[in-house]
Order: sequence, then structure tokens, then C-alpha cells
Amino acid sequence: MSTNRTFTMIKPDAVENGHIGGILDKITSAGFKIVAMKYTQLSRRDAQAFYAIHKERPFFGELVDFMTRGPIVSAILEKDNAVEDFRALIGATNPADAAEGTIRKLFATSIAENAVHGSDSDENAAIEGAFHFAGREIF
Ligand code: GDP
Repeated sequence: MSTNRTFTMIKPDAVENGHIGGILDKITSAGFKIVAMKYTQLSRRDAQAFYAIHKERPFFGELVDFMTRGPIVSAILEKDNAVEDFRALIGATNPADAAEGTIRKLFATSIAENAVHGSDSDENAAIEGAFHFAGREIF
């Protein structure tokens, strides 16, 4: 995956609350092109592997429970400066701290159930995109 791409998930809380359309509208309106997308559900093994960097954190078990409790939408997005611009679009991890107009401010309910994931570096965007998509699923 080239460095003008990032990886996102619309998390189970946002799917449950009917926000897939609203979030995709924010994403495409901000100039991101969707180059891969699927509606899927993570297994516990998937979630433990995806969030392995957090395995020592006290909330790891809660995070795995949350991310596996229902379907998600995963996608690879393309735009100049994709990683940084997408982190700005989603806002702070805790929606209480997120700027007005950001996806988490609009659609998230708590620091745990915060509606969307966004990669934090080009390197992780490539790893996370490859975790979710086969090469033939990326356009
Ligand atoms: P992000 O890069 O903004 O997603 O934030 P982090 O990498 O710090 O955390 C990863 C994910 O773990 C967050 O998006 C939340 O879903 C979850 N998380 C972060 N902090 C907490 C917490 O204090 N409690 C719980 N239950 N989940 C958390």
C-alpha cells in the first residue's frame, strides 16, 4: 500500500447505531477515495492480533469484546497526506476531547466505543490494510 493511503474501520458501536452512511459521507466529502471496502466481523483471534500493541493495557479484554461483538466496515482510503488528514477528520480518541465536526465528536459515545479506527502511521496503515484485504481486493 502506498504512503498516500490509510486504513479505517467503522466500529461495532457505529454500525449498531446506524452511522455507516453518515460516516462514509464524512469520509468521501473530505476528499478520501475508497480503494477497498468490506462489511465483516472480527473473530477474537483477529481482534487480538490487530490490537496486539495494546495487549498489556488494562482495557485490552474490553477492547477485544467490543470489537468482536458485531459487524464492522473496514476500508482503505486514498488521499494526499492520508494518515494525518484522516486522524484530523476522526478527532481525539475520547470523543469528549474531539474537535467539533470530527467523526468521533459526531458519532462516538465514549473513549472505548469511539466509532472509527484510523491508522497512526504510514507503516501501520500498510500493515493494517494487508491484515484485512488481499491484494486483489484493493483498487
Ligand atoms: P486511537 O489510535 O485514537 O484509536 O487510540 P489508541 O490507539 O490509544 O486506542 C485504541 C482503541 O482502544 C481506541 O480507539 C478505543 O477503542 C480503545 N480504548 C482506548 N482507551 C481505552 C480505555 O481507556 N478503555 C477502553 N475500554 N478502551 C479504550
